[in-house]
Amino acid sequence: MLSRPLDTRGRPLHDLRISVTDRCNFRCVYCMPRAVFGPDHAFLPRADLLAFEEIARLVALFTRLGVEKVRLTGGEPLVRRELPTLVRSLAAIPGVNDLTLTTNGVLLPGLAATLREAGLHRVTISLDADDDETFTRMNDARVPVSAVLAGIEAAEGVGLGPLKLNMVVKRGWNEHAILPMARRFHGTGRILRFIEYMDVGHSNGWRLDDVVTADEILATVASEFPLEPMPPTKPGEVAERYRYLDGGGEIGVIASVSRPFCGACDRARLSADGQLYTCLFATVGHDLRALVRGGASDDELETELRNIWELRDDRYSEVRSAETVDLPKVEMSYIGG
Ligand code: SAM
Repeated sequence: MLSRPLDTRGRPLHDLRISVTDRCNFRCVYCMPRAVFGPDHAFLPRADLLAFEEIARLVALFTRLGVEKVRLTGGEPLVRRELPTLVRSLAAIPGVNDLTLTTNGVLLPGLAATLREAGLHRVTISLDADDDETFTRMNDARVPVSAVLAGIEAAEGVGLGPLKLNMVVKRGWNEHAILPMARRFHGTGRILRFIEYMDVGHSNGWRLDDVVTADEILATVASEFPLEPMPPTKPGEVAERYRYLDGGGEIGVIASVSRPFCGACDRARLSADGQLYTCLFATVGHDLRALVRGGASDDELETELRNIWELRDDRYSEVRSAETVDLPKVEMSYIGG
């Protein structure tokens, strides 16, 4: 039966992000730098990944706690084999009202129709610049902008819109692409969201100076396209919304560093090998895979999930400091972005 636990700060659990693989076909400098995630990097062995049946069982239990939104991510979720099979089983779970996926988009032309038919509702696509020189420097995998644009069109063509597009802004790398990106997507119905570069994991060498803040990003966009704030569509929404005064649509900023939003965070994250994390910046998780594979019943698992949530106290972005930056936080590619 549905009864919503609250954490120690009174926050409900609404949103579950599931990393389906720690592998990716990009090597974005701010996420999986090639020097760390090179040919010798040990990715999770296949047997360690949660099977689709295990993921679906956990998701069904999470809906009893109030989860309504499920986002598949990674790594790059589309590199996990047979992903539409997982989508089909998650879409059939009562209570999953919003089933979505975050992707770099390059594999969408071959997969969008199957994913849509399997029951996926929407996708969010990441794109950090609209010129090849900047974008290939960021993704470090020689992927041109046209490959992502093809993914965007494929997704829209099968009804996986309205699309949200994520652009991480890292100083010295792509802040010059803010206005060109705004121009490209202004008036298209696609919602461009600018993300402050975050100190997730500990391999990207994050420094506060590398963060282009929401204030700077908004001033840059507004220098050509005046903006006004919009109300949130729902509590716990991470992106602050702004509309173009000329009617050209809306943009968002996700300002985890300069405007932390821990107070409304209603998100849990499940890693590809079944560890549950209650914060993107966590250092330790809860081993759900051991419980699932150890024969725990549904009631036992549900009780464990409730206990974990009721003890949750995380608010990393509100207490971020020089000391916290060097904590051994888990990598974004592992925990899921
Ligand atoms: N591979 C997929 C993709 O590219 O969208 C899904 C996983 S990726 C980790 C999810 C999102 O996290 C992407 O939009 C990515 O740009 C963003 N991201 C990764 N590392 C980040 C960081 N250090 N700061 C801010 N955003 C980051």
